[in-house]
Amino acid sequence: MAASLLALSEEELERRVVAAGGRPFHARVIGEQVLGAGVLDYARMTALPRSLRGRLAAELPILASVERAAVRAADGTTRLLLWFPDADGGGASVETVHIPPRPRSRAERAGNGATLCVSTQVGCPVACPFCASGRAGLRRNLTAGEITEQFVRGRALGPLSRAVVMGIGEPFLNLPALLAALERVRAPFGLGTRKVTVSTVGFPERLRSLAPTRPPFQLAISLHTPFDAQRDELVPAMRGTPIEEVLTAGDDWFERTGREVTYEMVLLAGVTDTADHASTLARRLGGRRCSVNLIPFNAVEDSGFRRPAPAAVEAFRGRLTDAGLVATVRHSRGAESDAACGQLRLRSEA
Ligand code: SF4
Repeated sequence: MAASLLALSEEELERRVVAAGGRPFHARVIGEQVLGAGVLDYARMTALPRSLRGRLAAELPILASVERAAVRAADGTTRLLLWFPDADGGGASVETVHIPPRPRSRAERAGNGATLCVSTQVGCPVACPFCASGRAGLRRNLTAGEITEQFVRGRALGPLSRAVVMGIGEPFLNLPALLAALERVRAPFGLGTRKVTVSTVGFPERLRSLAPTRPPFQLAISLHTPFDAQRDELVPAMRGTPIEEVLTAGDDWFERTGREVTYEMVLLAGVTDTADHASTLARRLGGRRCSVNLIPFNAVEDSGFRRPAPAAVEAFRGRLTDAGLVATVRHSRGAESDAACGQLRLRSEA
């Protein structure tokens, strides 16, 4: 028996509804209520017969997860620590972050909703040394229902306008579940291709095979350094894959999808924020249709890495823009509360 409603396919839900005394079309009504209207209580689904509401409330929880923590920062960013039961009776935690527009920003004035940062795996096998999520390796993939549930729980905190798949895990190592979840939320959440960004370390063969399908998201590739030997250290799962091969796969993605790739660089003080890094990156990306997103490192305990000074970040960005590249800086949000991805989970399991 499935643990929750969001874990079921449309056909499975219909079977459960009929077994509980409902009609097949009631399954569609329930789907519209949960995914479309965000109703998370059968008692409020008054279009359903009372007896069906009672049976389903007793037999089929809408959500599988338990909210273990919700840490709200002064800027309105909320980090959810969600615990999902495992099939073997245990459980696993992931983080989902709800990031409203900055107060008085253009996005807020335009009435935009929040950006939701979503996780795809419990832990991460890529093992980047600067990241809290990769420390204990991969525990398991999240299911499509569990990824969908993060959207449902995130929207319960306030309307969403964008989603970034940049939470815990490497999305391209759990693609079928991610694509199924994106398909489920696309229409009811209004999250079309331009409003979803998926960030990957850039497996060339996976990028090349997916590009012709024109998946419904914008692509970001976490490069982190323009030097092959250093990337082997900073992104261990990509050891032996030359950066040029990743960039060529990015070019192929642009040709096949018509969508420019964003290359991401985590700026680690004295490690990846040097003038040499900026000029080498500019040279490697020169002539390519792409942009660069710079991510000043968020402190992770015992990582040995430091956050660069704002002036160093600005100097790095200046070198890229002087070379003709479009470069932006991602400002961290919720900075006072375990802002680095995976820290809340790490603490909860310490
Ligand atoms: S930075 Fe991303 S890819 Fe690297 S270990 Fe963390 S979650 Fe995984």
